[in-house]
Amino acid sequence: MDQINQPDCDVILIGAGIMSATLGVFLKELDPSLKIEIYERLDKVAAESSDAWNNAGTGHSALCELNYTPENPDGTIDISKALKIVESFEVSKQFWSYLFRQGYMGSSRDFINSVPHMSFVWGNEDVEYLRKRHDAMVKHHLFRGMEYATDQATLQEWIPLVMKGRTEGQKVAATHMPIGTDVNFGVLTRTLFNHLKGLHDVDVNLKHEVHHLHREKDSTWSVGVTDLTSGHSKNIKARFVFIGAGGGSLPLLEKSNIHEGKGFGGFPVSGQWLICRNKEVIEQHHAKVYGKAAVGSPPMSVPHLDTRVIDGEKALLFGPYAGFSTRFLKEGSLMDLPLSIHFDNIVSMLGAGAHNIPLTKYLIDQVLQSPEDRFKTLLDYFPEARTEDWELATAGQRVQVIKHDQKEGGFLEFGTEVVHAEDGSIAALLGASPGASTSVSIMLGLIEVCFAARVKTPEWQTKLREMIPSYGQSLSHDEALAADTRRHTHEVLGLTQI
Ligand SMILES: Cc1cc2nc3c(=O)[nH]c(=O)nc-3n(C[C@H](O)[C@H](O)[C@H](O)COP(=O)(O)OP(=O)(O)OC[C@H]3O[C@@H](n4cnc5c(N)ncnc54)[C@H](O)[C@@H]3O)c2cc1C
Repeated sequence: MDQINQPDCDVILIGAGIMSATLGVFLKELDPSLKIEIYERLDKVAAESSDAWNNAGTGHSALCELNYTPENPDGTIDISKALKIVESFEVSKQFWSYLFRQGYMGSSRDFINSVPHMSFVWGNEDVEYLRKRHDAMVKHHLFRGMEYATDQATLQEWIPLVMKGRTEGQKVAATHMPIGTDVNFGVLTRTLFNHLKGLHDVDVNLKHEVHHLHREKDSTWSVGVTDLTSGHSKNIKARFVFIGAGGGSLPLLEKSNIHEGKGFGGFPVSGQWLICRNKEVIEQHHAKVYGKAAVGSPPMSVPHLDTRVIDGEKALLFGPYAGFSTRFLKEGSLMDLPLSIHFDNIVSMLGAGAHNIPLTKYLIDQVLQSPEDRFKTLLDYFPEARTEDWELATAGQRVQVIKHDQKEGGFLEFGTEVVHAEDGSIAALLGASPGASTSVSIMLGLIEVCFAARVKTPEWQTKLREMIPSYGQSLSHDEALAADTRRHTHEVLGLTQI
């Protein structure tokens, strides 16, 4: 994509969520002369999954999420995925520290705050699992400092609300990591867009919907956009297009017609939270407490009692409760799922359906839940919760990736997937988890494949190292580098040190 004639712009970013914001800022830092156009169908940025009330705001570092540390058949704990996630978040903190030092952001308190990350389980089997998990994790320098406790006194100090009123004699255990974070991805996204808007050659176009993508003979892309205020449509030519449309990415990838995008499908999972409205209760909890997922549930439906810091105020959320809707976006259409099914992905969709019966059953159970059933789950984490203190709210919509598989037809994936054309002229981000926390690593990976020639230049290499000092090195292998990096980012962002 490096040698092309006279397009209208260098880069088009579709969607104004955390992914486009991160990519846009990265690219302008690497090459300030790039002309970037951003198109967003809603009238504001960060109004879908990236908004604070639409996601859990957990700075995913695998400090508390048990789904990142599965138990092997021999009873040992696999921490390889947890290492990837924690390293990824260390990369995010480096990028945000760089932006903060450049003066692009106001107070770091507006978007990132220290909140201990905890796992909490009960019953012999899960307590034993948590003990083994803790043993396996604390051996690694990136998880050092994580504490484990089963005694009442420590647990009451860490999580008084969770312990009060609990059945006497119940076997419980928890881990506690003080360096966990709560991130307001909405504020972060808006801050990045405000910065982008002030730059030369960046246009942020709200209420503009992309409906068409066509590859020209010269490998540029013609992008069809409708101005939703005037109803006028136009085509804009760009050298590179990023489809960062969240749940809306799959239909646009299908429209691009690139062969790398064939066979992908999407399965929407909606979510709901219980939000606490009692300030006295909110003040008594200060942790993100993650439990164990129910059998058959998607990993992102792990229940958690979650301290949040939103718009300068402490909040308390419990959930998410999963649900089913055929919409791909919160502000989407009920026809999103049916219209996404085509000849080239029907096999993947059917395959994924056939292999995910427990998930389907779980979702049906969740949808059929009464308010009383929902509240019963909260009582497992907060035995003395009172219904009048809690209100049900709708969270963001996720579209899980369905991938083609020769043997199985298709399978459902719970991570994120960057799909790009071989020539690097277009890329799309599918999926949602662990999502916003890993946006920096995901966009870095995308830049490496789509701007491969420029990434190799000394100028880009130097700039990448300025933004991400650990770039090209492994934080999970280099203990001294990891310690230095964490000390520095936590100092810049004002986060808890251990
Ligand atoms: C319930 C829930 C909990 C979550 N919890 C966490 C968490 O704790 N930690 C974490 O790191 N991540 C979490 N995530 C994931 C995280 O929110 C997402 O990964 C992230 O916000 C995705 O950002 P995005 O920019 O890709 O998409 P979005 O923020 O959804 O932005 C996409 C944008 O594209 C626009 N768009 C769509 N179609 C078009 C079109 N045709 N033309 C123009 N614009 C279009 C949309 O309007 C939207 O504004 C959670 C998500 C959900 C739903």
